[in-house]
Amino acid sequence: MDTPQAADASSQTIPSGLSRLMELAFNLWWSWTPEARRLFEHIDPPLWVLTHHNPVELLAKVRPDRLMHLAEDPSYMRQYSAALKIFDEYRQNKHSWFKTQHGDLKAPTIAYFSAEFGLHRSIPIYSGGLGILAGDHCKEASDLGVPLVGIGFMYPQGYFRQRITPEGWQEAAYAPFKQAESPIHPALTPSGDVCRITVEIGSRVVAAVVWKVLVGRVPLYLIDTDVPENSPENRALSARLYGGDQEMRLCQEFLLGIGGVRMLRALGIAPTVWHANEGHSAFLTLERIRELVQKGSTHADACEAVRQSTVFTTHTPVPAGHDVFPHHLMDRYFTGYWEQLGLSREDFLRLGDTPESQGQGFNMTALALRLAAHVNGVSREHGQVSREMWHHMWPGLPAEQVPIRSVTNGIHAPTWIAPELNLLYGKHLGPEWAEKCDNTAMWQRVLDIPDQELWAVRQTMKRKLMSFIRERARSGWMQGHLQASQVISRGTLLDPEALTIGFARRFATYKRATLLFRDLERLKQLLHNQWRPVQLIFAGKAHPADEPGRYFIHEVVSFCDDHKLGGHVAFIENYDMHMAKFLVQGVDIWLNTPRFPLEASGTSGQKAALNGVINLSVLDGWWKEGHNGANGWGIEPLVGNQDIQAQDEHDAQQLYRILEQEAVSLYYQRDLDGVPRGWLQLMKESLRTNAPRFCTKRMVKEYVDNLYAPAMVRTPSTW
Ligand SMILES: *Cc1c(COP(=O)(O)O)cnc(C)c1O
Repeated sequence: MDTPQAADASSQTIPSGLSRLMELAFNLWWSWTPEARRLFEHIDPPLWVLTHHNPVELLAKVRPDRLMHLAEDPSYMRQYSAALKIFDEYRQNKHSWFKTQHGDLKAPTIAYFSAEFGLHRSIPIYSGGLGILAGDHCKEASDLGVPLVGIGFMYPQGYFRQRITPEGWQEAAYAPFKQAESPIHPALTPSGDVCRITVEIGSRVVAAVVWKVLVGRVPLYLIDTDVPENSPENRALSARLYGGDQEMRLCQEFLLGIGGVRMLRALGIAPTVWHANEGHSAFLTLERIRELVQKGSTHADACEAVRQSTVFTTHTPVPAGHDVFPHHLMDRYFTGYWEQLGLSREDFLRLGDTPESQGQGFNMTALALRLAAHVNGVSREHGQVSREMWHHMWPGLPAEQVPIRSVTNGIHAPTWIAPELNLLYGKHLGPEWAEKCDNTAMWQRVLDIPDQELWAVRQTMKRKLMSFIRERARSGWMQGHLQASQVISRGTLLDPEALTIGFARRFATYKRATLLFRDLERLKQLLHNQWRPVQLIFAGKAHPADEPGRYFIHEVVSFCDDHKLGGHVAFIENYDMHMAKFLVQGVDIWLNTPRFPLEASGTSGQKAALNGVINLSVLDGWWKEGHNGANGWGIEPLVGNQDIQAQDEHDAQQLYRILEQEAVSLYYQRDLDGVPRGWLQLMKESLRTNAPRFCTKRMVKEYVDNLYAPAMVRTPSTW
């Protein structure tokens, strides 16, 4: 590489006694392992905060004499050795779940393709839920010893940073992120060269380098077209996540699917199962058919072999969430390609047909459904909605027999748990609680945690959120980003004693961020109650091209700015994983108000539940199967009614009623010792029932048992 990306950190002289700190910093395993996190934090606690918990940056910036000093400190060296011992044992992978359950499968490798991966703030290559799910999937695959490799993009400019103007509008700023401060290495081919690929996309010849990120035992390979030999246009191809127009997007997906397969070949990796996480990467099926046809298979045989070894996860019932490319663009980039699959233009285009496309558009989900034999939606409800939505592709079958199953999303508990609560669970559920996270019997023991202890920890978590918010506002003000009048709407008047409701997600209109403001007088009554106040914290980005979404943000921010709401409503800028942790750990109630049935699953409420936050949500997505009547609040949606106004009115009424008649009084009903017993009972019921079900431990096991293993077994031996 002409740009030695790790130079900054590696030019730091690390004392020989601590030389493996660098190795730890370059494997994201540290991010979900408390022993490793503490090791970095202890090097320089203020710098740890300033770098937003980024050990690569920390090691580059820490004063060398500090490291020398630590190398002489016996207690630090003991911690260092202990963390490395855990790391080495982890990587040896001796007794993993996968080995025990599926050890007899021959040379299994699962290639997991995703347009985004949300792993850590130091690699900003995700926008939201889809990416976080992919990141959590990789971390859990690593923990369970599942032989998975990830394939995605390095977006040199990542996703945008959000700023709110003094007038309350979202501004999107893209900035190159510092690769030298990110835990990435150039990926090498088996012969030891830096992996480079060249992909012909129509008449464009696009070169790319490949970066490698270590996620515990799972390697992730990222394609990057920002290389000097490319034209500016091609360099920009992978610059931004979801940044360009439809043509840019088609080229990105060409590169991810088709380039991704070629990249794996160049790396010497031979997957047995290919998993397309969402339709963005579905072109991978075409490239594999092409390979087989070029080796002499008939088109039909090649298709069948590819189908049997392909897993596809669909993620949204929102029609605009499925990529559809016009045929003139498909012609531009696939002329000359379909012949290599053994297809005519008509037969090729038919692979992406849907009844709605009327022979005009190529639908990526339709392509994936035709060429993957193992398909799932991301919650039970979403599985059913998907079966109905795609029923037309299986005209002979009743909808319930359409071969789309479901695996409900989950979250990676070690990533999302608050450190204080981790200690408490360690004490009462056992130090290995996270490894047994899907064990229902273990979670029964939350009932034994003394109320006072649980409440005290929850209050600490809440205070941490409030000080995070306050420090953000302070530094924004000091740096001149915030005017004095905006400081209040950024949450500086929030009170850690007041019932706090969090709402943080993408500002897509169907998520109805403004539902709570429908009856402003009624809301004010809740907020202003002197003895039992309620406060609201909002965060989230709207896609820059989503005008209605931007408008929703403006509306929410104007409520935050309204002095009549008394600083009880706050909007926190630039929602990302780092902030999400504080929010899902620190609020009391997690609010979610999607318009049924458009929330495929949702995962933020699962993170909240794991941290003792109570869910108050429309019974849609994961919550439809999670809610049992005693573990949180469910808003029963108005089903089968097409009138959006009526649906919104109905859902808002329920929301107000639950807050007014149940939530507020339960929260403020205290014993003599100040502990809200009823609230804690609800919290424990939520933990007991939700934590074991909505974790990736359960989820990845289901992917392996129900989708990956069948795909491996049916892979022809000649493959
Ligand atoms: C968890 C998470 C999401 C997904 O949450 P939803 O429940 O789908 O809204 C989105 N963004 C960030 C930063 C997250 O951490």
